[in-house]
Amino acid sequence: MIEPAAPSPARSVPATPHDLRPGVAGVDPLELAALLAEMGEPAFRARQVGDAVWRSEAASWDAVTTLGLPLRAGLAERLRFDSIAETDLRVADDDATLKALHRLSDGRLVESVLMHYPARGERRERNTLCISSQAGCAVGCPFCATGELGFERDLDVAEIVDQVRHARRRLVSQGRHLTNLVFMGMGEPLLNLDAVIGAARAITDADRFGLGARHLTISTSGVVPGIERLTALSPQWTLAVSLHAVRDALRDLLVPLNRRWPVRAVVAAAAGYAAATGRRVSYEYVMIDGLNDTPADADALARLVAGTGSHVNCIPMNPVAHTPWQASAPERIEAFAGRLRAAGIGVTIRRNRGQEVGAACGQLAAEKSAEPAAVAVAWRRERLVAASAAALAGERSRDPAPPGLPAGSPRPVVARTEPRTAAPRTAAPRTAGRPDRRPAVGRQSPRPPRRGSR
Ligand code: SAH
Ligand code: SF4
Repeated sequence: MIEPAAPSPARSVPATPHDLRPGVAGVDPLELAALLAEMGEPAFRARQVGDAVWRSEAASWDAVTTLGLPLRAGLAERLRFDSIAETDLRVADDDATLKALHRLSDGRLVESVLMHYPARGERRERNTLCISSQAGCAVGCPFCATGELGFERDLDVAEIVDQVRHARRRLVSQGRHLTNLVFMGMGEPLLNLDAVIGAARAITDADRFGLGARHLTISTSGVVPGIERLTALSPQWTLAVSLHAVRDALRDLLVPLNRRWPVRAVVAAAAGYAAATGRRVSYEYVMIDGLNDTPADADALARLVAGTGSHVNCIPMNPVAHTPWQASAPERIEAFAGRLRAAGIGVTIRRNRGQEVGAACGQLAAEKSAEPAAVAVAWRRERLVAASAAALAGERSRDPAPPGLPAGSPRPVVARTEPRTAAPRTAAPRTAGRPDRRPAVGRQSPRPPRRGSR
């Protein structure tokens, strides 16, 4: 049975009514076959429709000329050919990066980014697409433009997959094909896991999109029950974990999910995934100047992941307006990576792509939303400065974890853990070195004025 998309749990009022017809790319092949049979069509039609959806350049039912007009009209009544209503494109990095802002049928905006890496030496050309799994995100990492938007709604399978179909059409027109897919756009994939699994299956199914399973990466900020669910499925997809800090006090601030699933529980769950699948887990580590980039941080990270066969990606933080933080300087990132390498850990320093077109994930969508008042930005930055100082002093957040998380045992409340061994360099300029008793970010209630709805 083909169900319409679930009604949106969004907090903002959609700009347009949601189109309730399911997107065809989210429909399971067996259901599609059943629907066609119900419409009185012969069995071979299912393959023709599948070819139109997954292999043709058609962008609408009208363009699927392999099907007769009455069938096209019948299908269009029941299913959307494309669940993405329109797309704005921006290019950067000498056309090697293409950032797309997609408007969904209810007016909400999500982003995808297509990155081209030319062949170099032995290495073949790569075309990597970064896609979104949710509009906004409930986790609220303070360095992330999407986190600042807050949660709007989950994407359904078709809305996720259609980002890939759009990119495929663009690539085909350039004589290229998609080689890698990463769930590193807007949203926390493991908080929309049913749709993400459905989309990942469609994308890696040889009869549908047909991407090699090992070329698909799901990135999570550390939803332990979600990692465990993936482990039970044991796919060949790559798991990336956004770590960003090893000490719980700092990770409570940078990745608020840590207040529910602390760093060691996350790493243990990731090790379980690696053991079950034989796939190497990658750890993402956003480098923030003076906050998480000291030699002591590198050594703690090396100890944490040593012997797991994992790989660390160091990512210079893309600047976002509402934070007081900046990316670590290149030499500081090199030194950090060097210490990890010396400890035998595989490390890559990731070059940020698309800086000139809205660098951070969620930034284009944020630009389109109402500008936050200057006073709200100043308020937020001030609280982040205070919260940084508290975190660097080893003080754990007493704030609740973000709402709407799946069940799981909450961490025991611990006021202080692992005092910092090296002094911060530049973070928390107003308070560093002095105890700061002001509330950490998020402790205050209600939250600061937010961006308006779109
Ligand atoms: N929610 C998931 C996947 C989407 S975010 C997650 O957090 O893993 C994908 C990656 O982009 C994460 O590693 C995240 O930490 C990183 N990211 C977010 N904002 C960033 C910024 N301003 N600079 C650099 N990386 C950022
Ligand atoms: Fe959500 Fe990931 Fe951004 Fe954190 S970094 S707010 S989990 S999208």
